[in-house]
Amino acid sequence: MKTVIMGAGAMGSLYGGLLASSGEEVWLVDIWKEHIEAIRSKGLIIEEKGEEKSIRVHATTDVSSVGKADLVILFVKTYHTEKAVSDALVLEKENTVFLTLQNGLANEDVISRQVDRRKVVLGVTNQGATLLGPGKIRHGGWGKTYLGELDGQGTNRIREIAQVFEKAGIKTEISSAIQRLIWEKLLINIGINALAAVTGVKNGQLLDHPEALMLMEALVSEAVEVAEQKGIRIEGNPVDKVRAVAEATKANRCSMGQDLDNKRRTEIDVINGALVREAERLGLSVPYNRMITNLIKVIEKTYH
Ligand code: NAD
Repeated sequence: MKTVIMGAGAMGSLYGGLLASSGEEVWLVDIWKEHIEAIRSKGLIIEEKGEEKSIRVHATTDVSSVGKADLVILFVKTYHTEKAVSDALVLEKENTVFLTLQNGLANEDVISRQVDRRKVVLGVTNQGATLLGPGKIRHGGWGKTYLGELDGQGTNRIREIAQVFEKAGIKTEISSAIQRLIWEKLLINIGINALAAVTGVKNGQLLDHPEALMLMEALVSEAVEVAEQKGIRIEGNPVDKVRAVAEATKANRCSMGQDLDNKRRTEIDVINGALVREAERLGLSVPYNRMITNLIKVIEKTYH
């Protein structure tokens, strides 16, 4: 399976590096020249538990030099998906699969504006990675990867992708309810990311303050109501799950927090912002999510 990764940042490099190590043909495509040059000259360096390994993998800034792909994995930040998909059209042949493992809601809609929807496969990743500099990432989290067809069917192509991932040491499960899993991850992000980002705290500190816990609960409850109206059944107590994740990741500054700290654009539009849009469509009111979305947007617009 020839795999091309669009967006070879922290996560794209992680998946690309693991797949290349297992003998797969992988191409990393990124617009960041220094990073690609470093990978080409010294290999991709993956740091894990304090140890470094260097992996040889094809890397380019010129997607048109890659040829056709069997699998395209989208790993750009979500606000770059549209451009990355349009760049990736040169990779497309009749049976190319476009897989998104990005965070947030409705990534399939953005991709299928340019690609036949039947070619799109969804996923959720619980792996974690950080970019350390050009050509170098840290592998920090080892959760499962879930893959699912939009219609929930178990197809040969999805089994093949899962096998290739498993062979590369990426624990993978095929789900017939991938939208529910996407929503479950969304609920975690809705309860933690923007709230920790605007308050300037680490995930675990959200649990230390009743005011933060109240806001967390309100944000997540609004999201659960929207999910239920959409017919997505959320299992267990979602607020407890968000609390458990905040506890398990207590020392982390979440990615949205790091984005604000470094004056970078956030993925708010596919997290709390996406919830606000879904709620509007359904005629529901989600004032806490609307407020936090707008707060993040004001901060983003006034970086200097
Ligand atoms: P990142 O910023 O490290 O990497 C994104 C890369 O995309 C950058 O290197 C950028 O140069 C590149 N890029 C932008 N436009 C491009 C284009 N047109 N063509 C090719 N490359 C392009 O981001 P990340 O942390 O790897 O996150 C990627 C996605 O995965 C996000 O949706 C994020 O929410 C999700 N995610 C991240 C983690 C994590 O631990 N980092 C975990 C789960 C999910």
